[in-house]
Amino acid sequence: MNEPDQIVTKRQDYFFPSIGHFYQTPPKITNGQMQYLYDHNSNEYTDFFAGVSVMNCGHSNPDIMANTIEQLQQLQHTTTLYLTQMNVDLAEQLASILPGDIRRTFFCVTGSEANEGAMALARMHTKKNGFIALSGGLHGRTHLTLSVTGIPMWRLDDQLVNENIHFVDRPHSLSISTEEAMEQSLQQIETVLQNHGDNISAMILEPIQGNGGIITYPKDYLKKVKALLESYEVLLIVDEVQTGYGRTGKMFAIEHYDIVPDIIVTAKALGNGIPISTFSTTNEIAQSFNKPSASTFGGNPVASATALSVLKYIEKNELVQHAQGLGGYLKEKLQSLSSPFIQEVRGIGLMVGIQTQSVDSIEQSSADITDMVLEKMKQLGFLVGKNGLNRDVIAFQPPLVITKEDIDSMVSSLERVLEEIES
Ligand code: PMP
Repeated sequence: MNEPDQIVTKRQDYFFPSIGHFYQTPPKITNGQMQYLYDHNSNEYTDFFAGVSVMNCGHSNPDIMANTIEQLQQLQHTTTLYLTQMNVDLAEQLASILPGDIRRTFFCVTGSEANEGAMALARMHTKKNGFIALSGGLHGRTHLTLSVTGIPMWRLDDQLVNENIHFVDRPHSLSISTEEAMEQSLQQIETVLQNHGDNISAMILEPIQGNGGIITYPKDYLKKVKALLESYEVLLIVDEVQTGYGRTGKMFAIEHYDIVPDIIVTAKALGNGIPISTFSTTNEIAQSFNKPSASTFGGNPVASATALSVLKYIEKNELVQHAQGLGGYLKEKLQSLSSPFIQEVRGIGLMVGIQTQSVDSIEQSSADITDMVLEKMKQLGFLVGKNGLNRDVIAFQPPLVITKEDIDSMVSSLERVLEEIES
């Protein structure tokens, strides 16, 4: 048995059956260098998924790693019971880049944990209990975050979820116009607010849905949502776990919509592979989180030192602008592909997806086609992702250090792959 197959077998023996993977046999990755990954046979892959939007600054980025290693050698961990410099510096830095007057940050470790904290904060601040969430959203795997996750396959077991959660349709549909989908969604929010507004603390949403299939919203949608929520004193929590830190061509994706949320949640790319997450809010709202509460590992010295160098690296290398420019380039190139399997190309910045579709002449479903594309692209040296409610969206979310040349070679390989599947 070869090395990857041995690992697959061990996973089957020792992991929970819930832990899946892409590909029949995934590559066994042994090294990473910026936008490239290498397997145990030294085959090179250009990474177009970045560990699900985490490695924005690239794998084992030498500039960032140097600070992580220095910090590891100096001081690993204390908790917030003692004073350290890095986490306060990080909180101050975040205040300078977070939108509007959001300036206080609570550090934790994972996206789920930060969303859970944000929702607890909303409950404490409003003294109300319920939530509104969008279909197609994903917010984590703790009880409360599972409860607001609007993708059936991720909800584990409906017995686990909390009550008083109201789902509304996301403003995107392949069968009606965007305008209609937006009106429908706004109408549903209004109805929920009219009927239950006095017991709803917040609406939680991703500014661009990641796992739900790279879904952006019409320009005015979030403005209208925010106004509706405000009229019922309901907060808006924006989950930027996947979209934060330059991914979409803005530092935070919410900036595309010209609104300031009440609470903003970030994770993944902040630590570029070292676990750290945050929920941040205004002075006023933060005052409601007034019982003792801290995360043991949240914002520990190693994570904070790393995050500080991540922010510095993003700024120094203009990764936000880079994501905007190259993202537009990638999207245009994908849009120019002509294949019967492409139903829609969508997204913004370096967060782009191809909605695939089946065609009459072949038996495969859109999910099968997506899997075939992933497999064939892997064989050609490109790791692309997939997501979507039916797992039929090919996702491109590379490290932001990707180059135009990487995009050119990926797209020409994709063109070849799509033609091969058609023939
Ligand atoms: N929110 C979003 C938008 C996510 O994409 C994810 C994970 N993919 C989470 C929350 C949960 O993050 P974590 O796995 O770090 O708990």
